[in-house]
Amino acid sequence: MSCYACPIACGKVSLIRSGPYAGTMIEGPEFESTGLLGANCGVSDLEALVKAVEICDIYGLDTMSAGAVASLAMECYEKGIITKEDTDGLELNFGNGEALVALMEKIARREGIGDLFAEGAKRAAEKLGVPELAMQVKGQEFATYEPRGCKGMGLGYAISPKGAHHMIAPTMGPETAGDGSKRFEYKGKAALVRETQFLMAVVDSLSLCSSMRFALGLKEQVELYRAVTGLSLDETGALSLGEKITNLERLFNLREGFDRKDDYLPSRMLKEKMPTGPSQGHLVELDPMLDEYYDLMGWDHEGRPTENRLAELGLAELWREVR
Ligand code: SF4
Repeated sequence: MSCYACPIACGKVSLIRSGPYAGTMIEGPEFESTGLLGANCGVSDLEALVKAVEICDIYGLDTMSAGAVASLAMECYEKGIITKEDTDGLELNFGNGEALVALMEKIARREGIGDLFAEGAKRAAEKLGVPELAMQVKGQEFATYEPRGCKGMGLGYAISPKGAHHMIAPTMGPETAGDGSKRFEYKGKAALVRETQFLMAVVDSLSLCSSMRFALGLKEQVELYRAVTGLSLDETGALSLGEKITNLERLFNLREGFDRKDDYLPSRMLKEKMPTGPSQGHLVELDPMLDEYYDLMGWDHEGRPTENRLAELGLAELWREVR
């Protein structure tokens, strides 16, 4: 299944033919939905996962945020912060696919405990008095990548103008290439995040599907741009535009009161070592990565673009507005 003429053809259709969810049909599930509603919730029941995705699709819920919220609900349930009475009898343990499906319905209809979790992870955790349990940045729930096991992704979540989104600086490919050990390094990740961020700003500005970057490199994207517009642009010029866009986004957020204090990760990422698995024992060294990133961007210690850097980018006038 594919969008018109796409060489990647990432789509697929899933149909459940029998059992309690018989007749459920969705496009997907896509990998982020599978990661967050599935593995993140300990749910390995693929049919329950497909049903949960269908509910999200019908009601217009983002499957990724829904999965992150569901895992928050499950953690709260297992820690006794919410009880079976609060959930109208749902046993919201990790791994319970049936409860996941029921929770999605409750969230979509804002019924019972669903009314609380429909607020998103940040607000729900705050209302429950456990803000540290919400895996979010700037109110946006984490994507599938665990920052303790992929540190550049952690920096990308933190500096992202819209919160813990995986497509602002998707560094997971180079970080996990080869023997995968690079994902645990933090020195030098700022440069990778910065470069990837500029590249993604170009891809987004060309209105290309972000997955197309796997098929078309920057060189081909710039060639397409020249062919369509007749304007001259080379790869260096395109990345420079990416930097300009990144600074404009930063200026927008600064004007709205965001600065270094908002480029955070939840304390779990910084203080609780990964307890098990291949990333066991790792934390995210966020502060040194942030310092390096701001430095490379020509921003000050608080993450404010300097007048000099903005002047070089032709944005000096805007700097005066937000300083
Ligand atoms: S990679 Fe993008 S353009 Fe291609 S089929 Fe998937 S969503 Fe459509």
